[in-house]
Amino acid sequence: MTRKKIGLFGGTFNPIHFGHLNLALEIQEKKGLDEVWVIPAHLSPLRVDHPLIPAFHRLKMVELACAELKGFSVLDWEINRPPPSYTSYTLEEIKKKSPKHDFFLLLGEDALIHFDKWKNPEQILAMASPLIAQRVGQSLEESLSKLTLSDSARQKLRSGLVSTRILDISATEIRERIQKKLYFSHLVPAKVVDYIYDYQLYCNLNSEN
Ligand code: ATP
Repeated sequence: MTRKKIGLFGGTFNPIHFGHLNLALEIQEKKGLDEVWVIPAHLSPLRVDHPLIPAFHRLKMVELACAELKGFSVLDWEINRPPPSYTSYTLEEIKKKSPKHDFFLLLGEDALIHFDKWKNPEQILAMASPLIAQRVGQSLEESLSKLTLSDSARQKLRSGLVSTRILDISATEIRERIQKKLYFSHLVPAKVVDYIYDYQLYCNLNSEN
């Protein structure tokens, strides 16, 4: 079996948008990743700003968005397992099943703000090297200075920063635009836009639809 470089890209993807796709594609191309595995996570019912849309809708939208991207696959592992879905547990399982490959953790800069509060952050960095895309309003150095982590973990994060195009898009903004009946097709792939209309997703924030 040839040793592959595989990027793991987790998120709530509620919904997936061009900011996510740009992050994954640019990092894949710049770092020569053979594959990118996109892993939608459970949504926390405690996040009151997130409408609780059924997980299979988020998964389906990720599949539609990634279908034509070379080397991309979508993993339903976290969504089909009871929560909480900790990245460190998912990584352990992935490493057990595919011990020969090199894994990379794809993140946006904002994900670092609470990285030391994730379960087993140091172990995560030992299992997968971080590759971090830039994001509006975030400073890697500022986040790093506030993290309670070892110097070597901090250094891994620092050297993982990849120079990427910055797209100021968030799923929060998309959900708000949909609710206000504003145009949002400039932020989300066309097939995902159609899916959102077909199932009337995000029309009522905080309701299941
Ligand atoms: P929300 O607005 O609902 O909090 P989000 O748009 O930030 O969602 P997530 O699914 O939480 O999307 O993000 C998954 C990953 O993608 C995270 O690592 C996040 O930092 C990154 N990410 C999301 N949007 C962008 C973007 N526009 N540019 C770079 N990285 C992004």
